[in-house]
Amino acid sequence: MHIHIFWDSQSPSGFQVPVSRLISSILDVKTTVTENPVRIMGYVTARRQVDAQALLDSIQTYKHLHQIPEPVLLVVHQDLFRNGNIFVFGLARESVGAGVVSTSRLGNEYYGRQGSDDDYIDRIAKEGAHEIGHLLGLPHCSDRECVMFRPDTLDELDRKKKVLCPACREQLDTLLNAG
Ligand SMILES: [Zn+2]
Ligand SMILES: [Zn+2]
Repeated sequence: MHIHIFWDSQSPSGFQVPVSRLISSILDVKTTVTENPVRIMGYVTARRQVDAQALLDSIQTYKHLHQIPEPVLLVVHQDLFRNGNIFVFGLARESVGAGVVSTSRLGNEYYGRQGSDDDYIDRIAKEGAHEIGHLLGLPHCSDRECVMFRPDTLDELDRKKKVLCPACREQLDTLLNAG
């Protein structure tokens, strides 16, 4: 199993390699990171946000056109929303192997705090690994330190460790071996 990470040009540059390495180590899967070839669709001017579902549509179309069977994670900097949510850190569409993560709310600067590359990289990796976990078949987990826990806030995201809990680890191993 091999995961494609598409890094949009507006996402923080220089983090591609550390983020993809961390995602590989969290999930124990291979990743490749390339410049994003997918069109950014779904910008809503009134919200200054991008509709995450429209982006997933865009990834789905690209995957179909270029016959990419493996999961794709798109990393964008635009703030994301979905119907019913003010914002989302990321979103996954398991049925087509497409996921998206926004770096918009993952930097300390967004919250008026002192910037830190390490914090930024850790958060993108945890969010990215979470969405890829869904694409590989993992559901949400109630362990607040597990990567598959669903965080509503930055503090909840920071509380998570860069690892799957033993139950999710075992489940992912089973899923990967079955595939
Ligand atoms: Zn989730
Ligand atoms: Zn778990």
